[in-house]
Amino acid sequence: MSIDLAAVAAEKGIKYFLISYSDLFGTLRAKLVPAAAIGGMMKSGAGFAGFATWLDMTPANADMFAMPDPESLIQLPWKPEVGWLAADLVIDGQPVAHAPRNLLKAMVEKAAALGFEVKTGVECEFFLIQPDGSAISDPADTQAKPCYDQQALMRRYDVITEICDAMLELGWNPYQNDHEDANGQFEMNWDFGPVLETADRHTFFKYMAKSIAEKHGLRATFMPKPFLKLTGSGCHAHISAWSTKDGSNLFADTSDAIGLSKFGYKFIGGIMHSAEALCAITNPTVNSYKRINAPVTTSGATWAPNTITYSGNNRTHLIRVPDGGRFEFRLPDGSVNPYLLQAAIIAAGIDGVTNDRDPGERLDINMYTDGHKVTGAKKLPLNMLDALRALYRCDAMKEMLGEEFVGSYLKLRTNDWNDYARHLSTWERETTLDC
Ligand code: ADP
Ligand code: MG
Ligand code: MG
Ligand code: MG
Ligand code: MG
Repeated sequence: MSIDLAAVAAEKGIKYFLISYSDLFGTLRAKLVPAAAIGGMMKSGAGFAGFATWLDMTPANADMFAMPDPESLIQLPWKPEVGWLAADLVIDGQPVAHAPRNLLKAMVEKAAALGFEVKTGVECEFFLIQPDGSAISDPADTQAKPCYDQQALMRRYDVITEICDAMLELGWNPYQNDHEDANGQFEMNWDFGPVLETADRHTFFKYMAKSIAEKHGLRATFMPKPFLKLTGSGCHAHISAWSTKDGSNLFADTSDAIGLSKFGYKFIGGIMHSAEALCAITNPTVNSYKRINAPVTTSGATWAPNTITYSGNNRTHLIRVPDGGRFEFRLPDGSVNPYLLQAAIIAAGIDGVTNDRDPGERLDINMYTDGHKVTGAKKLPLNMLDALRALYRCDAMKEMLGEEFVGSYLKLRTNDWNDYARHLSTWERETTLDC
């Protein structure tokens, strides 16, 4: 059934559509299209020069077309005359294999062929900072343990509730908002759902938080570690898999000590097997490695993992099982591309369930204080280059995500690393001038 967007526009008072796609680095690229022109765009797509964005293309490539997905339509709550549409990329009549939303759809199909659907919820932590990026926005937010600080939360009531009201209006079922573990940091939670829906909402949430913060004279950042001594911004994903035959939760087993099925353990095993390589996707920036493997923060804990281990309801591990029938993957950070995050989860999960990956024994220890006593547990990569090399070597991820995506992604991210490595830092000068 095709949706007539021109009719929807007339009915809802939409004057413009924002035809939008996420490139490999998660930057949103868009064309603002008057409602009168949406019929033609639905047929042929909006044209872009792919090389001008973070995609693996050349200036000589033919035009790339962004085909809007009408199911993804969101009327901007803060500007209702605009309708946002997530788009899929096509070049020469073929889907662009390395485009994040296309890749996710391919992974969803692979899971469906094996009889399951993955559903996830994401917790996108962010900071409200000053527009110039130099400091948090609230000078009174100075507590050493600022988590759940009511006073600081309520000083940002206008921004937080404008975002939450928008989620209520959009039917996302938001259920809580809080001040997080760093000064200036917040988290807003809404209900989990099928991965494509979660990825579109995650993408839109970031756009919305930034836009509404700007309206209030502030800036929202999802940068993993914007302030060195404060807790960083994670993007934990809670994951479950459901049977396409009977709708049952394939991760649930009430007879297990922590409520997980064998299928669930194998899925976790897949994630742990490829965790170092997954970092290239879930922790994709130079800055990401200042959040994981980090020294203790002023609040007393980083809340970020450093080792590839899993536990029950214990937040010091890579994977936590808070409840039967689902697990939490605590590795991803705020710089993750929302589509690649979900694609990588499914890819690692399929590898786990099809290759019987064993996650090993559950560890019920405080990894921050007692991690050194564990023998054999693998450490997470210490920097972006280590993660990129791990992805380069990872057969499981290459097989699941495809050589074309992995090749393109590694090429662009390695350029990014090289750009950083060529940068001369103050630290280098200070420590080496007198060598
Ligand atoms: P915490 O801070 O304890 O890690 P939050 O309440 O902030 O957890 O976020 C939990 C997320 O997990 C929410 O998006 C929620 O909808 C999602 N979630 C809950 N149950 C499941 C499930 N069975 N499968 C996937 N996601 C789930
Ligand atoms: Mg032009
Ligand atoms: Mg949370
Ligand atoms: Mg949190
Ligand atoms: Mg969490």
